[in-house]
Amino acid sequence: MADSQRLPVVETFHSLQGEGHHAGRSAFFIRLAGCTVGCSWCDTKHSWPSQGHPEQPIDALADAAQMAAKAGASFVVITGGEPLHHNLQPLTQALDARCGLPLHLETSGVDPLSGRFDWITLSPKRHQPPLQGLLDRMQELKVVVHAPEDLHFADAMAQAGQAEALHYLQPGWDSPEGQQLAIEHVRHNPTWRLSLQAHKWLGVR
Ligand code: SF4
Repeated sequence: MADSQRLPVVETFHSLQGEGHHAGRSAFFIRLAGCTVGCSWCDTKHSWPSQGHPEQPIDALADAAQMAAKAGASFVVITGGEPLHHNLQPLTQALDARCGLPLHLETSGVDPLSGRFDWITLSPKRHQPPLQGLLDRMQELKVVVHAPEDLHFADAMAQAGQAEALHYLQPGWDSPEGQQLAIEHVRHNPTWRLSLQAHKWLGVR
Protein backbone atom coordinates (compact mmCIF):
# COMPACT_ATOMS: atom_id res chain seq x y z
CA MET A 1 0.00 0.00 0.00
CA ALA A 2 1.41 3.38 -0.96
CA ASP A 3 2.14 5.77 1.92
CA SER A 4 1.64 8.96 -0.16
CA GLN A 5 5.41 9.62 -0.16
CA ARG A 6 5.56 6.85 -2.75
CA LEU A 7 2.77 6.30 -5.27
CA PRO A 8 2.10 3.49 -7.79
CA VAL A 9 2.77 4.89 -11.24
CA VAL A 10 1.66 3.43 -14.56
CA GLU A 11 3.61 5.93 -16.64
CA THR A 12 4.86 9.48 -16.90
CA PHE A 13 5.22 11.23 -20.23
CA HIS A 14 5.53 14.64 -21.85
CA SER A 15 3.01 15.13 -24.65
CA LEU A 16 0.09 17.32 -25.67
CA GLN A 17 -3.15 17.45 -23.74
CA GLY A 18 -5.66 15.81 -26.06
CA GLU A 19 -8.98 16.64 -24.43
CA GLY A 20 -11.10 19.48 -23.09
CA HIS A 21 -10.31 23.16 -22.64
CA HIS A 22 -6.51 22.74 -22.62
CA ALA A 23 -6.36 20.46 -25.67
CA GLY A 24 -3.33 21.09 -27.85
CA ARG A 25 -1.08 22.40 -25.04
CA SER A 26 2.20 20.88 -23.93
CA ALA A 27 1.80 18.96 -20.68
CA PHE A 28 3.58 16.49 -18.42
CA PHE A 29 1.36 13.57 -17.43
CA ILE A 30 1.58 11.46 -14.28
CA ARG A 31 -0.70 8.44 -14.60
CA LEU A 32 -1.22 6.85 -11.18
CA ALA A 33 -2.28 3.23 -10.83
CA GLY A 34 -5.43 2.06 -9.07
CA CYS A 35 -9.09 2.42 -10.02
CA THR A 36 -12.15 0.66 -8.61
CA VAL A 37 -14.76 2.59 -10.63
CA GLY A 38 -14.92 -0.08 -13.32
CA CYS A 39 -16.19 1.66 -16.47
CA SER A 40 -16.87 -1.00 -19.11
CA TRP A 41 -15.48 1.22 -21.88
CA CYS A 42 -12.35 2.28 -19.98
CA ASP A 43 -9.33 2.68 -22.27
CA THR A 44 -6.80 2.42 -19.42
CA LYS A 45 -7.86 -0.88 -17.83
CA HIS A 46 -4.19 -1.71 -17.33
CA SER A 47 -4.20 1.05 -14.69
CA TRP A 48 -6.90 -0.57 -12.51
CA PRO A 49 -4.70 -2.66 -10.18
CA SER A 50 -2.29 -0.75 -7.95
CA GLN A 51 -0.18 -3.87 -7.57
CA GLY A 52 2.25 -4.60 -10.35
CA HIS A 53 3.04 -0.94 -10.94
CA PRO A 54 6.21 0.39 -9.34
CA GLU A 55 5.81 2.72 -6.38
CA GLN A 56 7.82 5.83 -7.13
CA PRO A 57 8.98 8.45 -4.61
CA ILE A 58 7.07 11.71 -5.02
CA ASP A 59 10.39 13.57 -5.17
CA ALA A 60 11.37 11.58 -8.28
CA LEU A 61 8.03 12.48 -9.88
CA ALA A 62 8.60 16.14 -9.05
CA ASP A 63 12.10 15.96 -10.55
CA ALA A 64 10.68 14.46 -13.74
CA ALA A 65 8.08 17.25 -13.89
CA GLN A 66 10.84 19.81 -13.41
CA MET A 67 12.73 18.36 -16.38
CA ALA A 68 9.55 18.42 -18.48
CA ALA A 69 9.03 22.07 -17.53
CA LYS A 70 12.53 22.85 -18.84
CA ALA A 71 11.62 20.96 -22.04
CA GLY A 72 8.49 23.07 -22.58
CA ALA A 73 5.62 21.53 -20.60
CA SER A 74 3.11 24.20 -19.58
CA PHE A 75 1.36 22.26 -16.84
CA VAL A 76 1.27 18.92 -15.04
CA VAL A 77 -1.72 16.57 -15.37
CA ILE A 78 -2.30 14.03 -12.62
CA THR A 79 -4.51 11.31 -14.01
CA GLY A 80 -5.11 7.58 -13.70
CA GLY A 81 -6.62 5.27 -12.93
CA GLU A 82 -8.50 7.24 -10.32
CA PRO A 83 -5.87 9.52 -8.78
CA LEU A 84 -8.00 10.52 -5.79
CA HIS A 85 -7.89 6.94 -4.49
CA HIS A 86 -4.55 8.26 -3.15
CA ASN A 87 -3.75 11.15 -0.86
CA LEU A 88 -2.36 13.67 -3.34
CA GLN A 89 -1.34 16.32 -0.82
CA PRO A 90 2.35 15.29 -0.56
CA LEU A 91 2.68 14.94 -4.35
CA THR A 92 1.18 18.35 -5.15
CA GLN A 93 3.31 19.89 -2.40
CA ALA A 94 6.45 18.38 -3.93
CA LEU A 95 5.42 19.50 -7.43
CA ASP A 96 4.77 23.03 -6.19
CA ALA A 97 8.15 23.13 -4.50
CA ARG A 98 10.19 21.69 -7.40
CA CYS A 99 8.64 22.62 -10.73
CA GLY A 100 6.15 25.43 -10.10
CA LEU A 101 3.92 24.51 -13.04
CA PRO A 102 0.12 24.75 -12.77
CA LEU A 103 -1.31 21.45 -11.55
CA HIS A 104 -4.27 19.82 -13.27
CA LEU A 105 -6.31 16.88 -11.99
CA GLU A 106 -8.49 14.47 -13.98
CA THR A 107 -10.87 12.58 -11.74
CA SER A 108 -14.19 10.77 -11.65
CA GLY A 109 -14.87 12.46 -8.30
CA VAL A 110 -15.74 9.37 -6.26
CA ASP A 111 -13.27 10.23 -3.47
CA PRO A 112 -12.77 13.44 -1.49
CA LEU A 113 -10.36 15.97 -2.95
CA SER A 114 -6.80 15.93 -1.65
CA GLY A 115 -3.92 18.13 -2.82
CA ARG A 116 -3.83 21.63 -4.29
CA PHE A 117 -4.89 22.06 -7.90
CA ASP A 118 -5.17 24.95 -10.34
CA TRP A 119 -7.54 23.10 -12.66
CA ILE A 120 -9.89 20.21 -11.94
CA THR A 121 -11.47 18.23 -14.77
CA LEU A 122 -14.34 16.21 -13.38
CA SER A 123 -15.36 13.27 -15.56
CA PRO A 124 -18.25 11.74 -13.60
CA LYS A 125 -19.62 8.27 -14.24
CA ARG A 126 -23.31 7.40 -14.28
CA HIS A 127 -22.86 4.12 -12.39
CA GLN A 128 -20.83 5.78 -9.62
CA PRO A 129 -21.75 9.50 -9.37
CA PRO A 130 -19.28 12.01 -7.96
CA LEU A 131 -19.18 13.65 -4.54
CA GLN A 132 -20.77 17.10 -4.34
CA GLY A 133 -17.43 18.46 -3.09
CA LEU A 134 -15.89 17.78 -6.50
CA LEU A 135 -18.85 19.22 -8.40
CA ASP A 136 -18.38 22.39 -6.33
CA ARG A 137 -14.65 22.63 -7.15
CA MET A 138 -14.40 21.62 -10.84
CA GLN A 139 -13.28 24.08 -13.52
CA GLU A 140 -14.34 21.68 -16.27
CA LEU A 141 -17.04 19.03 -16.52
CA LYS A 142 -16.36 16.35 -19.12
CA VAL A 143 -18.97 13.67 -19.69
CA VAL A 144 -18.34 10.71 -21.99
CA VAL A 145 -21.33 9.91 -24.20
CA HIS A 146 -22.35 6.47 -25.43
CA ALA A 147 -26.14 6.50 -24.98
CA PRO A 148 -29.04 8.95 -24.52
CA GLU A 149 -28.97 8.39 -20.73
CA ASP A 150 -25.50 9.95 -20.69
CA LEU A 151 -26.94 13.24 -21.92
CA HIS A 152 -29.54 13.31 -19.10
CA PHE A 153 -26.75 12.56 -16.65
CA ALA A 154 -24.55 15.27 -18.18
CA ASP A 155 -27.27 17.90 -17.81
CA ALA A 156 -27.91 16.82 -14.20
CA MET A 157 -24.19 17.09 -13.39
CA ALA A 158 -23.97 20.53 -15.00
CA GLN A 159 -26.97 21.64 -12.96
CA ALA A 160 -25.49 20.31 -9.73
CA GLY A 161 -22.00 21.73 -10.34
CA GLN A 162 -20.53 25.16 -9.84
CA ALA A 163 -21.94 27.70 -12.28
CA GLU A 164 -18.67 28.92 -13.86
CA ALA A 165 -17.45 25.46 -14.91
CA LEU A 166 -16.97 24.72 -18.61
CA HIS A 167 -19.09 21.88 -19.97
CA TYR A 168 -17.76 19.31 -22.44
CA LEU A 169 -19.36 16.28 -24.02
CA GLN A 170 -16.88 13.71 -25.26
CA PRO A 171 -18.13 10.94 -27.57
CA GLY A 172 -17.00 7.50 -26.49
CA TRP A 173 -14.11 6.31 -28.64
CA ASP A 174 -15.44 4.01 -31.38
CA SER A 175 -19.05 4.95 -30.53
CA PRO A 176 -20.89 6.25 -33.61
CA GLU A 177 -24.06 6.65 -31.49
CA GLY A 178 -22.13 8.65 -28.90
CA GLN A 179 -20.72 10.89 -31.62
CA GLN A 180 -24.14 11.58 -33.09
CA LEU A 181 -25.74 12.22 -29.70
CA ALA A 182 -22.95 14.54 -28.53
CA ILE A 183 -22.93 16.56 -31.76
CA GLU A 184 -26.70 17.03 -31.72
CA HIS A 185 -26.76 17.95 -28.03
CA VAL A 186 -24.05 20.58 -28.48
CA ARG A 187 -25.78 21.91 -31.59
CA HIS A 188 -28.96 22.57 -29.64
CA ASN A 189 -27.42 23.44 -26.25
CA PRO A 190 -24.71 26.08 -26.66
CA THR A 191 -23.52 25.90 -23.04
CA TRP A 192 -22.00 22.54 -24.02
CA ARG A 193 -18.86 22.12 -26.14
CA LEU A 194 -17.54 19.06 -27.95
CA SER A 195 -14.33 17.44 -26.70
CA LEU A 196 -12.50 15.11 -29.07
CA GLN A 197 -9.63 12.89 -28.03
CA ALA A 198 -7.18 14.60 -30.38
CA HIS A 199 -4.24 12.47 -29.23
CA LYS A 200 -6.06 9.31 -30.35
CA TRP A 201 -6.99 10.77 -33.71
CA LEU A 202 -3.33 11.76 -34.18
CA GLY A 203 -2.02 8.45 -32.87
CA VAL A 204 0.13 10.07 -30.16
CA ARG A 205 0.11 9.49 -26.40
FE1 SF4 B 1 -11.20 3.84 -16.41
FE2 SF4 B 1 -11.36 6.35 -15.46
FE3 SF4 B 1 -13.52 4.71 -15.37
FE4 SF4 B 1 -11.40 4.28 -13.78
S1 SF4 B 1 -12.78 6.06 -13.74
S2 SF4 B 1 -12.54 2.73 -14.96
S3 SF4 B 1 -9.69 4.86 -15.11
S4 SF4 B 1 -12.50 5.51 -17.23
